[in-house]
Amino acid sequence: MTEKKKIAVVGAGISGLTCAYELQNAGFDVTVMESRGQVGGRMSSRVKDDFIFDLGADHLCNLYVEMKKYCKEFGIEWEPMRFLKYGVFRDGEVLSMKDVIGKLSKVRLTLQYLSTRDVGNFFNLNELAQHDKDNAYDFMKRRTGLEVSDYFVDAFTSTYQFHRSDEISLGALFGIMQSINRDQKGWDLHRTKGGMQALPDAFADRLNVRLDNPVKEVEGGEQVTVDGEKFDAVVLASQANRTKKFYKNPTQEQKKILDSAKYAESISVAFRVDRSKLPDTAIVWVPYVQSEKISGYVNEAMKGEQMIHDGKSLVCVWLHEEYAKMLSKVDDDKVFDAVKKEFVRVCPWFQSVDEIESFDLERWPEAMPKFYNGYLKTAKEFIEGEGQGAQNVFFTGDYLNSPWTEGALRCGQRVAKQVTEKLLS
Ligand SMILES: Cc1cc2nc3c(=O)[nH]c(=O)nc-3n(C[C@H](O)[C@H](O)[C@H](O)COP(=O)(O)OP(=O)(O)OC[C@H]3O[C@@H](n4cnc5c(N)ncnc54)[C@H](O)[C@@H]3O)c2cc1C
Repeated sequence: MTEKKKIAVVGAGISGLTCAYELQNAGFDVTVMESRGQVGGRMSSRVKDDFIFDLGADHLCNLYVEMKKYCKEFGIEWEPMRFLKYGVFRDGEVLSMKDVIGKLSKVRLTLQYLSTRDVGNFFNLNELAQHDKDNAYDFMKRRTGLEVSDYFVDAFTSTYQFHRSDEISLGALFGIMQSINRDQKGWDLHRTKGGMQALPDAFADRLNVRLDNPVKEVEGGEQVTVDGEKFDAVVLASQANRTKKFYKNPTQEQKKILDSAKYAESISVAFRVDRSKLPDTAIVWVPYVQSEKISGYVNEAMKGEQMIHDGKSLVCVWLHEEYAKMLSKVDDDKVFDAVKKEFVRVCPWFQSVDEIESFDLERWPEAMPKFYNGYLKTAKEFIEGEGQGAQNVFFTGDYLNSPWTEGALRCGQRVAKQVTEKLLS
């Protein structure tokens, strides 16, 4: 019997775990190395005072079809949120999506939606690289006016990506617009019962994972070495800028993609509040023109009884990248105080900071990759060129596919196929 080929996967985020699982199923001997004390990376949770604090990714969509398959396989319940209404903060009020912009803006936005067809799949941004010709903010300002750009495109981008929409490629914008228009109900929010940690934990239960194992040095070649240990191949599933630090001999193509990847920073700040003070609004977008500090906030009571204890529930507040950077070296207590002050300004359901209790926070130096104008082409070139798999070193992660957990997971699946093809050919 021939010995199984050995593969190391560096990083136990959802992309690395998915890739590792698929590689193990394909018959390889896989070891996952993770620097933190828990798996999941930006898709993870912490349980405190009976509350589940989802530290990074907070909710999932019904059109995460690949993720749903694993949940079904592992017996993880895929639950709908109890309520789904969105709000947008504008001049002291939280308005519904349909009321936040005027009639003319609505007509112009609808026309743009109708003309955005057959552009490519949002969960594979390579397909959208041909539209990588402008940035979303400027394009929409010209086509639909400033109001749509500020209160829709920029507000959406800030809430979910923590940076402005002038750093989002037109290709990414087209992909999401087509999907919203076509998949409508597919965007209904869901969660995995037990919190975001459920799926990463289920993967880890089936894999050989070394926790608290920060990898310091990887060298590619016929045999790859990971901190001195030899493998037939390695999948670097860590954030691009971290990969850059420990991967010692990248090829030119590999170096180019690692240098091109940029991230927005954020902090997820959780407050404990009276459930009765919050209406059934799930998520509030806070446009940058209304706050340069808070990008959006999420009413965790939408996740049901598991998230309500003694009449209290959580609100998760996300910060814009520059503000998060400003607070990166500030003590937690001061961060809570500063964010509370801004929160009562952009959340009309609270009048005073005394109504809000500091609960927990998580800092994310690499919260979201930026799919900026020009990046989609660079990523496509890398994926289809010589870089992926050169020196038996492969890369995976959201930054190589599309935003959010489903983008990261699908990238893991795709890379597992590439590794398999190369190693078994
Ligand atoms: C605040 C916030 C809110 C979000 N909200 C949503 C949401 O609601 N829905 C959604 O779908 N997505 C959301 N996202 C995005 C989503 O979480 C990410 O796109 C996805 O989880 C990225 O997965 P990944 O595997 O590519 O990267 P990561 O999860 O970052 O995984 C990389 C892993 O590599 C590890 N690592 C790094 N360096 C080393 C090293 N030297 N040695 C060993 N291990 C290393 C890291 O510790 C990490 O575990 C959110 C993200 C944030 C930060």
